Amino acid sequence: MDFLDEGEYVTRREAMVTTQIIQRGILDKRLLDAMGTVPRHLFVPPGYRRYAYSDHPLPIGEGQTISQPYMVALMTSLLGLTGGETVLEIGTGSGYQAAILSHLAKEVHTVEIIPAVAENARKILAALGYANVFLHIGDGSFGWSECAPYDGIIVTAAAKETPRALLDQLKPSGCLVIPTGGPSLQYIQKWTMENGEWTSESILAVSFVPLRGAEGWTREEWPI
Ligand code: SAH
Repeated sequence: MDFLDEGEYVTRREAMVTTQIIQRGILDKRLLDAMGTVPRHLFVPPGYRRYAYSDHPLPIGEGQTISQPYMVALMTSLLGLTGGETVLEIGTGSGYQAAILSHLAKEVHTVEIIPAVAENARKILAALGYANVFLHIGDGSFGWSECAPYDGIIVTAAAKETPRALLDQLKPSGCLVIPTGGPSLQYIQKWTMENGEWTSESILAVSFVPLRGAEGWTREEWPI
């Protein structure tokens, strides 16, 4: 394996925060601290560690990916967390996004549909001591009602449309960040309540793996 020494990971992580996050306009100090603290290289497969702080997503097995650092920062910043929140993430993947959220919110619930992916994330999160992250295995395409309501929900796989159930599991003051669209093009949507109605704002064109499950894409519609 091509492991680097610990100091080199720290240097690369600091460079990532400066060139990929701050220089692109994300300035929330708590978020920058979290991105500068979470050891992203431990969330990628060992053979990819030297690329962990590069400006792109990486494969994590089972056809899934860990998102590009900037995408994690951008989607997290849209939630506007201040520390007291209960947050739901759909699509645990590597567990990296959940680890970032764990620094910024009070409680993080994260749902993963592929058991082997979930178990891998569980091991990493436990080894790093992320005690306020609660990992659930199952279909999160209609949310996770047991622990609702949430102050924020973040979906890290592309939905066809925003599942209504996710909005129903938010507090009125809450916010949902979700990429919607098909295999070729998706947009990050930010949903908040205005005058008693859920309203969405389209933020950025992106490329995510598909959301599966009851409210997601079938393999026939979107093979990967
Ligand atoms: N947030 C992750 C990256 C997510 S990749 C990270 O930080 O690494 C998208 C993940 O969503 C994949 O692991 C995929 O298996 C999962 N997923 C897809 N559909 C899902 C569903 N309906 N419920 C829960 N997880 C789902």
